[in-house]
Amino acid sequence: MGLKITEIRVKLTADPRNKLKAYCSVTFENSFVVRDLKIIEGAKGPFIAMPSRKLADRCSRCGHKNNLRAHFCNQCGQRLDPERADRDVRGRARLHADLAHPINSDCRIQLHKAIVSAYMDELEQSKKAGYKPKTFDDFDDDDFIDDEYLHELMRRKQEREKHRRDDGGAELAGGASG
Ligand SMILES: [Zn+2]
Repeated sequence: MGLKITEIRVKLTADPRNKLKAYCSVTFENSFVVRDLKIIEGAKGPFIAMPSRKLADRCSRCGHKNNLRAHFCNQCGQRLDPERADRDVRGRARLHADLAHPINSDCRIQLHKAIVSAYMDELEQSKKAGYKPKTFDDFDDDDFIDDEYLHELMRRKQEREKHRRDDGGAELAGGASG
């Protein structure tokens, strides 16, 4: 199946109040690394956020790029509508875009299992005396996950699960008639 995962590095975050539990990097086929995946504590256990960036748009007056939630342009101070982000079918704002991500559920599940397993191993390791936390030189300042991003991730997860159930039903029906 798919791309072989050859290495996962997990760097735990320091503050136990942080819902962002770890950063990780994943190497495929000893050849290609994806960094800045995040392991987040969800209500039903850890889940993975792909590397992402906040969406932005350009100020109509000066062309400066601003965060979609900004109330004012960072450059010229023009008042902006903080509700201007595109919305999904249920009217909720899309504020982030993934930069790298699986495009089918097999790959998504494989990646999820491998990362959660590496994360659990790292957690176990961290309880031992003399544990040395991994460092990624440029990710050593722990971010906090804002709640809005967390909610966006949970919604996407629910939508994927719903689609998967729908697809599964269709396959089953197809098999029965063929
Ligand atoms: Zn502006």
